[in-house]
Amino acid sequence: MSAKKKKFESKNLWAPWRIGYIQGLDKFEGCFICHNIERPQDDEKNYVLWRTAGSIVMLNKFPYNNGHLLIAPARHIADFDQAGEAELLELTKLISQTKKVLSLSIKPHGFNVGMNFGRCAGAGLPGHLHIHIVPRWDGDTNFMSVCSDTKVISQSLSGLYEQLKQISEVQKLPNL
Ligand SMILES: [Zn+2]
Repeated sequence: MSAKKKKFESKNLWAPWRIGYIQGLDKFEGCFICHNIERPQDDEKNYVLWRTAGSIVMLNKFPYNNGHLLIAPARHIADFDQAGEAELLELTKLISQTKKVLSLSIKPHGFNVGMNFGRCAGAGLPGHLHIHIVPRWDGDTNFMSVCSDTKVISQSLSGLYEQLKQISEVQKLPNL
């Protein structure tokens, strides 16, 4: 493949799974986390992996990397200062346990665990606290360069969802 062709393709492959997100950013009415929380019957469609007493874990439909999960409190709160101690404990345990289920399934070499506060900081949904769990592999793209990089996500969301569901069952996760 010529260098020119390669460059052309990489430009056109640019994060296609994020286009819908970017274009739909101001179109979605309300909060997609609350939307998912209120519709347990749609958990599979919405890729909701776990529900716990006060939290929810779901696949990010517009992942930065394969296995990108979101952990959020069930309550629509914007920041930690509005969370109770039980919620804080649950969110922290869920960080640990999502890392576990991802490690057992797709075997990342590392993780970025992060949060964005405010739209200028990259929060697509500033009103509802959520934690990003992003698996990383040696040689994959830089976490902060998602707007200019091409990545190939080799697994479909539904395939990943099934795999994580199965491992959760075997491992009895979440276990709070
Ligand atoms: Zn919400």
